[in-house]
Amino acid sequence: MNILNQLIVSIVQMMPKNIVGFFSRKYIAGETLEDGIKVVKQLNAKGIYATMDVLGEAVKNKEESIDAKNKAMEVLNAIEKYKLMANLSIKPTQMGLLIDEEFAYQQILDLVKRAHEINNFVRIDMEDSSTTDMTINLYKRIYQQYKNVGVVIQAYLKRSFDDVVVLNKLGTNYRLCKGIYVEPASIAIKDRQAIRENYLKILKQMFIDGNYVGIATHDKYLIDEAYKMIREMNIPKDKFEFQMLLGVREDLRDKINSDGYKIRVYVPFGKDWYAYSVRRLKENPSIAGHIVKSFLTF
Ligand code: FAD
Repeated sequence: MNILNQLIVSIVQMMPKNIVGFFSRKYIAGETLEDGIKVVKQLNAKGIYATMDVLGEAVKNKEESIDAKNKAMEVLNAIEKYKLMANLSIKPTQMGLLIDEEFAYQQILDLVKRAHEINNFVRIDMEDSSTTDMTINLYKRIYQQYKNVGVVIQAYLKRSFDDVVVLNKLGTNYRLCKGIYVEPASIAIKDRQAIRENYLKILKQMFIDGNYVGIATHDKYLIDEAYKMIREMNIPKDKFEFQMLLGVREDLRDKINSDGYKIRVYVPFGKDWYAYSVRRLKENPSIAGHIVKSFLTF
């Protein structure tokens, strides 16, 4: 991480909660399910798909975790009721992974089962490296029973290519992203271009083995390279989609959509918006300028 990035991270961490809320409004659909539905309908009207996420991460106890699962169930019910072009994303720690692995497995299984009943899909997000093995195991166990579930691979992890070689044999539905958590150099690639190269190496292997990939990035370089790969390898349109986060690079998102490729936007909503917002602000290259402006105008 360079000095400017370190400075931005420190500033964001020191920002009062209301300032974080102010700057992160565009990344969050709102606090309620209705807010989420409204944003998904707007995206759907443009032909853009969504994946809905009830915000929240590591829960303190099973009660909180059950509450999170119930909210995710409500999302699936809403997708069915309003016929939304959307699926569900969930965080394993929110489902109780760090409290009781078996319990989290059951919770996620219930969601995948419900999604299966309504012909829908559950994406299991990938969190920090302390959860990678547990998340992959959980995914594999659920996949033995239901195929409407997929996992996320982080290109910054050195282990990811090897994981993909194994998971490809199952016929996995992936989301491929760079990875957002701060990980030690012993397990994670730190160089920006090297992460991109690993991303493309992994993407190619996923395609070679015939898997479905959600190409999740706002990096124009990676999007251009993915376009090239898709053309050169003659990958059919039902084998991939692009994915972006709500409020990020909408220009690129609309371009991908008008180029005739499927694009899905991650639509987070809920009361627990703080941790997610801080991560988005740290990634925003223009946040330093906004912060300076905010000091001048508030
Ligand atoms: P970057 O180089 O970070 O960004 C490329 C360009 O996009 C930047 O130069 C800038 O122009 C723009 N940009 C990026 N972020 C912002 C921002 N916040 N505000 C304004 N502009 C911005 N990570 C995980 O670890 N686990 C997950 O499960 C996971 N799920 C994801 C799901 C989706 C749909 C997406 C799109 C990302 C997900 N991520 C996840 C985050 C991901 O790992 C990256 O941290 C994030 O996408 C930034 O990487 P990038 O490829 O967009 O490249």
